[in-house]
Amino acid sequence: MKEKAHLTELTQAELSDWVEGQGEPRYRGRQIFAALHARRLRSWDEMTDLPLSFREKLKKEAAVTTLTVESRYISEDGTRRYLMKTHDNLPVETVFIPEERRDTICFSSQSGCPLQCDFCLTARLGLLRTLTAGEMVEQIIVALNDAYGVGEKLPRGTNLVAMGAGEPFLAFEPLMKALRIMADPKGLHIVPRRVTVSTAGIVPRIKELATIPERPHLAISLAAPTDELRNQLMPINKKWPLEELLAACKEFEKSLKPGERFTFEYVMLDGVNDADEQARQLANLLNRHGLARVKVNLIPHNTAEPLPYRPSSWERIESFKEILASKGVNAFVRRPRGRDIYAACGQLAARTPTAGEGRSLLHKIA
Ligand code: SAH
Repeated sequence: MKEKAHLTELTQAELSDWVEGQGEPRYRGRQIFAALHARRLRSWDEMTDLPLSFREKLKKEAAVTTLTVESRYISEDGTRRYLMKTHDNLPVETVFIPEERRDTICFSSQSGCPLQCDFCLTARLGLLRTLTAGEMVEQIIVALNDAYGVGEKLPRGTNLVAMGAGEPFLAFEPLMKALRIMADPKGLHIVPRRVTVSTAGIVPRIKELATIPERPHLAISLAAPTDELRNQLMPINKKWPLEELLAACKEFEKSLKPGERFTFEYVMLDGVNDADEQARQLANLLNRHGLARVKVNLIPHNTAEPLPYRPSSWERIESFKEILASKGVNAFVRRPRGRDIYAACGQLAARTPTAGEGRSLLHKIA
């Protein structure tokens, strides 16, 4: 059987072209785009504004959904994790994080991840494959529909973070396409400045992003203030060591819009990278590169078997933060969300919480 077209991965213009290729008028493309992205419908049958005969044809030729939700986990703190499967049966995970003023959806750019960061559970999966633009967009649609209902207007703004499984800058093309599709005012209308992309430090892509006018915010995972330690924790550092990485960051900084900043993420590992001396090294490193329009997010390590690390104590994290502040570096402590359901940073590896792990609720919704 020939593979069906995946329409969620098409821009509005591409969808109109596709529809035209099916011998239908172009405006049907706009109609389908709105049904998929603005109304977030998940089947052809729901698109009752399309003629029945056209719908029958569409069913044969094209798929509305390519991801299947396998399970949904709800944390004590309200965070929701979705474990989905691609059409070729690979795991995709998405996290919905309700917050006071707006919600954040953390989506995956790859199934598994090729980088081998020693403190991250996703790394243990290896790379299964890079996701398509449509698979990235669909993750957002699934999470929004579960939170607010199919086709409902969104009650408030949504922020997106490409901080789930995978290295977004090794999925650059589909990621940028997904962002274009999601920014469309006739669709989800989530614009790039509502999106943050986190990278382990793929230097050429940082430089490339600096040249793109309509772009997402940038976060860079540092985890260590010296090459020696960073080589151990994040082997990608052997390819692009700190000097090169920070030089690219400086280039990126020059391209920031007025008032805009970018972020360094620093996972806090007990007894490994959290000493006062390391805080001084980190501040000196950023200052030496003249990086002023940055903030540092300190992320307490999220444990998961078999990762060999523990989170730093809150006192240690506070002390680290104070030292950064005393050297003019703004730092914030990220509050862990969804740890009990394996939804927190570095915990996405298609895990099923076993009985007794927190009071997690497991709902099969597919
Ligand atoms: N590959 C990208 C995006 C995914 S990771 C990147 O490396 O930036 C998102 C963030 O979670 C990164 O800053 C990463 O350093 C952090 N992280 C990974 N494992 C973690 C863990 N076990 N506990 C806390 N943070 C972790």
